[in-house]
Amino acid sequence: MKKLLVISIGLLGLISCKKDDAPDATLSEKEKTDLIFLREEEKLARDVYDHCYEKYGLNVFNNISSSEETHFSNVLTLLQKYGIEDPAANKLPGEFSNADLQQLYNDLIQQADVSLMAALQVGATIEDMDISDIKLFYANTTLPDLISVYDALTCGSRNHLRSFMSQIKSAGGTYTPQYINQTEFDAIVNSEKEQCPAN
Ligand code: MN
Ligand code: MN
Repeated sequence: MKKLLVISIGLLGLISCKKDDAPDATLSEKEKTDLIFLREEEKLARDVYDHCYEKYGLNVFNNISSSEETHFSNVLTLLQKYGIEDPAANKLPGEFSNADLQQLYNDLIQQADVSLMAALQVGATIEDMDISDIKLFYANTTLPDLISVYDALTCGSRNHLRSFMSQIKSAGGTYTPQYINQTEFDAIVNSEKEQCPAN
């Protein structure tokens, strides 16, 4: 029994030692789950816009998809820095590890296929949701490298929302925010396009 206790303490020592050396030791569980979610949320945006560009050939989808590719890779850099497994590894366009994002992708593609106007409204929906989700992530961290990526991604999302809204309005359509409130939505849409930080 005494021997077993010694072995157990020894094992505990090994486990805690390994934990201290792990590269992700400084991230909380919330910070980790936020980054894992965000990686696939950026993929969802990119994959939906690629689909819409292929279907409708409207440049706004192609331009914004390139920006999402940058956001997608900004989040990968953080995952790698903290030794977190990439949920998007080996995933094809339209494939997700997160079941909620998979379902959302399927629903958004179905909506986007209805018409060009519906696809632009899907774009506004994605940006509306991204801004709202990242706002929650800010509350879970004080780390400057995470905050600077969140800043770059939300800045991009505000510009994307402005672009989609300008296309929707000039085609005579409307969009009502579903995630952020109307005041915040109006403040974004009625202000000038921003110069966003690289990450
Ligand atoms: Mn983005
Ligand atoms: Mn975006």
